[in-house]
Order: sequence, then C-alpha cells, then structure tokens
Amino acid sequence: VFDAHFGPFYGNGWKQRGVIIVLHDITNLKRLEKMRSDFVANVSHELKTPVTSVKGFSETLLGGEVNDEATTRTFLEIIYNESERLDRLIRDLLHLSRIENKVTPLNLSSVDLISLIHSIEKTLSKSISEKSLTVTLPPSTDEVTIEGDSDRLNQILLNLVANSINYTGEGGSINISVEVTEFDVHIYIRDTGIGIPEESVPRVFERFYRVDKARSRNSGGTGLGLAIVKHLVDSHQGDIKLDSIEGEGTTFTVTFPIRQP
Ligand code: ADP
Repeated sequence: VFDAHFGPFYGNGWKQRGVIIVLHDITNLKRLEKMRSDFVANVSHELKTPVTSVKGFSETLLGGEVNDEATTRTFLEIIYNESERLDRLIRDLLHLSRIENKVTPLNLSSVDLISLIHSIEKTLSKSISEKSLTVTLPPSTDEVTIEGDSDRLNQILLNLVANSINYTGEGGSINISVEVTEFDVHIYIRDTGIGIPEESVPRVFERFYRVDKARSRNSGGTGLGLAIVKHLVDSHQGDIKLDSIEGEGTTFTVTFPIRQP
C-alpha cells in the first residue's frame, strides 16, 4: 500500500521543469492499524459476552419471576462464573499490555527449572487427578539452572502445562522433559491430547485465537494465554515452537539461553 504526494518541480527562474512524486510505503502502518482495530473489536466482543449474561440473568432474578430455589441458585452460579471470566479476562489484558510495553524489567536470578516444573505439577495436581492423567517429569534430583525471572518462567510453564491438561482427554498422558545443550536449554511439554490442526498452528500465539471457541470457553480459557507466553519467552531471548498432530497430541518446545546475553 502506497501513499502518494505530488508537487511541481522548479528549475532556475521559477520555471516549472517537472513533477515530483513522493511515494511512501505504508503497508506496515496499515497492517498495524488493522491489527489494532481487530484487537479492539475482539476485546469488546470478549467483554460483551459475559456482561450480557450477567445483565440478563440478574434482570430475570430482579424481575421476581423465578420462585424456586434451585433455579435461583443456577442463575446465581452463572452470574458468578461469568464475573470470574470477566475478572480473568481483564487481568490477562492488563498483564499482556504491561509486558508488551515492557513496564517491569526482568528480575533476573538463577532459577532451577526442574524444581519449578515439580512445583507446577503440584499446583495443577487437582485437575491432573480429576482427569486421571499420567504425568512424567524429569527426576527431582536433577538440577538445570538458567538465568531468568522466576515468576515469569513459572507463568510460561504453568500456562503450557495447564493447556496440555485442558486439551487432553481423560486417561491421557503428559510428558515434561528438559535437555541441556552447550548454550541453551530445551523444555519439551508433550501431551496425547486433541492436537492442533495444521492450518491453526501458526495462529495459536495470536491474541484471542482459539481452535475451538466453545471448548476454550468451557474450560475457562481467555484465548490470551499463549500470546502472553510468547511475549514472556521473547523477553528472555528465548524461542517457542510447537509440533502437533490432530487427534494424537501436541509438543511445545521452549528454548532459553542458559545465560541472559
Ligand atoms: P485458551 O485460553 O483458549 O486456552 P491459549 O492462548 O492458551 O488460549 O491457546 C490458544 C488455543 O490454542 C487454544 O484455544 C487451543 O485451541 C489451542 N491449544 C493450546 N494448547 C493446546 C494443546 N496443548 N493442545 C491442543 N490445543 C491447544
């Protein structure tokens, strides 16, 4: 996309000698503008859905037409769950904007990835046992230390492992392993879940992109998790990629430099 400006070109004696045409390539600018307006539209839509529910169900309750206790309770539960979703959405949005604008610098220290992985498994143990998943972790006696921000590293791995739990059916398995090379550490998070269709693979790190909106909503997802993860990995000069086979499973690979350059 080009933006063109025309003007006369004068030679000696103010005689017009030609025309100057200045072309600016504004493809990038247009793309950014479009991304911003898409984002605003997405945010508005994501916020509108729970607000509509909260409003509708509370109006019905206030209207006094619901007399039995069980229905009242169901409606209140919906209102509560939708408020929780709003809360999560707003928190994720604020978080994303804070990391995108690099408001808080990394708080670097030596972080042992193995104990981090074990503590994440403990945090998620309830949903792991609810779905009877088999989780394999690196031996807790191992130690793999990198220089990073422990809160953010925790968030990266927590989001990825929570996703593999969410998108894996009952009785499935999750395998987390760590490999150390000369300068880097690779963390693999493998699941035997529903997988991601090939055409969606390049898009899952986009804000609000979900393969299956209904499924993500039901499991409480905001569609912002992987966008946040990608930013946090980038801020550590790391890299994230994924391999997936639909219906068979997904592997996320996160690579970090051992020392921050
Ligand atoms: P959500 O809140 O919807 O989980 P994310 O940004 O974390 O949002 O992930 C984006 C989408 O990527 C999900 O909606 C899901 O479709 C897909 N996805 C992420 N992780 C996995 C996984 N381990 N297996 C299958 N699909 C996944």
